Amino acid sequence: MNRRQFIRRAAILGAGIAVLPGILGREAAEAAWQSGGGLDGVSVRPTYLSFRSLWNRTTTDAIIVHHIGNTNDDVSAATVHRWHKQNGWAGIGYHFLIRKDGTIERGRPMGTIGAHCYGENDHTIGVNLVGNFEEYMPEPAQIASAKRLIAAICRFYGFAPSADTIFGHRDFNATACPGQNLYDLLPDIIDGAAAIY
Ligand SMILES: [Zn+2]
Repeated sequence: MNRRQFIRRAAILGAGIAVLPGILGREAAEAAWQSGGGLDGVSVRPTYLSFRSLWNRTTTDAIIVHHIGNTNDDVSAATVHRWHKQNGWAGIGYHFLIRKDGTIERGRPMGTIGAHCYGENDHTIGVNLVGNFEEYMPEPAQIASAKRLIAAICRFYGFAPSADTIFGHRDFNATACPGQNLYDLLPDIIDGAAAIY
C-alpha cells in the first residue's frame, strides 16, 4: 500500500478524522478562524478575499505542502488569489500561504475544498510556502511557521503530524512542487510539527 492508497483507505475507514477538538475546542477555534483571527494560538493574517462558490469538506486527514514555483518573489495571498481567479477558479486554491518573513496569510477558508492537488482536494489542507524551491532555499522563518501552522491544523482536526499525514504535492501529482529543497526539508518540518503537537 503506497501513501496515497493509505490516505484513501484511512478516509474510507474514517481513521484519522477529528478525534479531539484541540485546545480551544473545535467550535471556538472555528469561530476565531472565521472572524479572521488566528488558529489555536498561531497568528494568521486576515486577507479578506472574496470567492466564487465554495464547498465544505467533510473529511480532513492530511496536509499537502506546496511552493509557488514560477517565481521566488515574496508574493501575497491576494496576488495568488488573482492568478487563480484568472484560471477560472473560485479563488486562491491554497488554505494558507507562508510569506518569506514567516507571516502566515489566510487563503481559501479552512473548512472548504481547496484547489491545490488534483485528486486529493476533498480531504486535505493546502499550505504554500512562497518561493521557488527547485532553485532557492526556503527562509528559516518560513520553516518555523510551517511547523507551528501544521501542528495547529493537526490539533484542530485531530490527527498527528507524520509521514502518513503530511505530504509534498509531488507525492500525488506529476510536478516538481514543492521543489527539491523544500521537499528535502519535509521530514524536519514533520518532526518539528510533531514536537509542537
Ligand atoms: Zn503544488
